[in-house]
Amino acid sequence: MLKVKILEKKGPVLKFLVEDIDTSLANSLRRIMITDIPTLAVQWIDVHDNNSALFDEVISHRLGLVPLKFNAKNMNFTEDCTCKGKGCPLCQTVLVLDKKGPCIVTTGDLKSSDKSVAPSDPRFPITELLEKQSLKLEAVARLGTGASHAKHQAANASYQYYPKIKVTGTKADADRALKMCPKGSAEVKGNAIEVRNLSDSDTVKSCLFDAKGIEVGNDESRIIFTVESISGLEPEYIVSKAAEILQAKAEDLKKHISKL
Ligand SMILES: [Zn+2]
Repeated sequence: MLKVKILEKKGPVLKFLVEDIDTSLANSLRRIMITDIPTLAVQWIDVHDNNSALFDEVISHRLGLVPLKFNAKNMNFTEDCTCKGKGCPLCQTVLVLDKKGPCIVTTGDLKSSDKSVAPSDPRFPITELLEKQSLKLEAVARLGTGASHAKHQAANASYQYYPKIKVTGTKADADRALKMCPKGSAEVKGNAIEVRNLSDSDTVKSCLFDAKGIEVGNDESRIIFTVESISGLEPEYIVSKAAEILQAKAEDLKKHISKL
């Protein structure tokens, strides 16, 4: 049975420890978080007016990279939608931009046709308009996954093993080793050195790598995940959705195997 402990939640970054897990499961979850979580991004734009310094294609590229917040429960993939791929409010959202210079056009200027859809940060600059310049366009956003395009990548996800640092020498070796680490980052507990804050584990392991009387290793059954959302989704949602997708893949495999 897996045990999960949240270590840190800071804005879009979630760090958590999972016990009684192995590398294959951890890596499957990591890969799903990066490539398989549906996110919303601009697919194409219709430009009505653009005499800014940037070409239409550059504006389109910049808009495609804007992370969009959306209600994941109310959005379908266009190819699976009841509209049969034509595009409807259940599978796409239109964002309108209409600005006249002089000003900096930012993501906050995009007006959405769906109240639940908005740029995750309204401060990203798109372009600058000078006197007598203007930009008017419609952008259509649809669901996609990181496997189809990098702009749909939901998160940067990584993991590391829990540090396992044994004292194989004397108490003097352990005391000397502690002095090699950043102050207060580790402590001696019995025949082991424990990292106080797991965010410092890489630093402590590097400091003690060659230390006399100390054996630095990993506990491969305990894995620390770091998930940073780079989409409009919360990191907690990304982790639970990854588990749901992995389960669905396993069920699908089971169904096919049972037919053999
Ligand atoms: Zn539709």
